Amino acid sequence: MTDSRIDIRRLTKTYQRGGETVHVLDELDLGMEGGTFYALMGPSGSGKTTLLNMLGGLDVPDSGDVLVGDENLSQLSGNELAQWRSQNVGFVFQGFNLLPVLTARENVELPLLLTPLSKKERRAQAERALALVGLTDRMDHKPRELSGGQEQRVAIARAIATDPALILADEPTGDLDRTTANSILELLQRLNRELKKTILMVTHDPEAAGYADKVIHLDKGKLGRIEDNRKPAGAR
Ligand code: ADP
Ligand code: MG
Repeated sequence: MTDSRIDIRRLTKTYQRGGETVHVLDELDLGMEGGTFYALMGPSGSGKTTLLNMLGGLDVPDSGDVLVGDENLSQLSGNELAQWRSQNVGFVFQGFNLLPVLTARENVELPLLLTPLSKKERRAQAERALALVGLTDRMDHKPRELSGGQEQRVAIARAIATDPALILADEPTGDLDRTTANSILELLQRLNRELKKTILMVTHDPEAAGYADKVIHLDKGKLGRIEDNRKPAGAR
């Protein structure tokens, strides 16, 4: 990804449910700068996860375009999309989604299996990612031997293992207590500021959204206001 700007143009997505058409995203237009930490807020069912999945190439729109950097995702085939995703996007979920039978290091190595790296290089890269999230001393532990906060750190290490430009996080602190949540949010903020990752984080929590540079509001598939947390209060 040479330029990591994101442009969403007239994005429409519907689902069929019990003979009814549910309009989840309705001709949504949204531009996002690369290297910025965004929070995405909105009521349950407003289409946040759907939007995240389209940006990450996990789901395809009915119509409209999703441009990430120099790639128009709408023009990629299924295989091309999977390839693009494995190199450019890291996902973080509310429930961590770690494989329980693998150690922290093996979980982080998983996305690297899709790269041409050797076994030794995969191991070194996974260890680098785990060091970045502060878990060097827990690498050989399985998820059940870790706290929720540590599990989410492993998941974040897995998300950055391939060094993607874009991190998509769906309520990453939803299952964590306040203190643990804040340490995860500080980590995401550090990945944005120090490694220049573009981050889009879905959250219900205004305090979590306060860690982002900008807050995008979504309601019933339509874009609401975008707040800029970086502007001084008097300038809003
Ligand atoms: P949010 O993440 O904001 O809570 P979602 O994007 O998950 O919202 O869902 C938006 C709407 O789309 C909801 O009404 C949901 O029930 C519906 N929906 C999401 N995924 C599917 C699916 N695979 N099939 C049918 N309906 C879906
Ligand atoms: Mg959701």
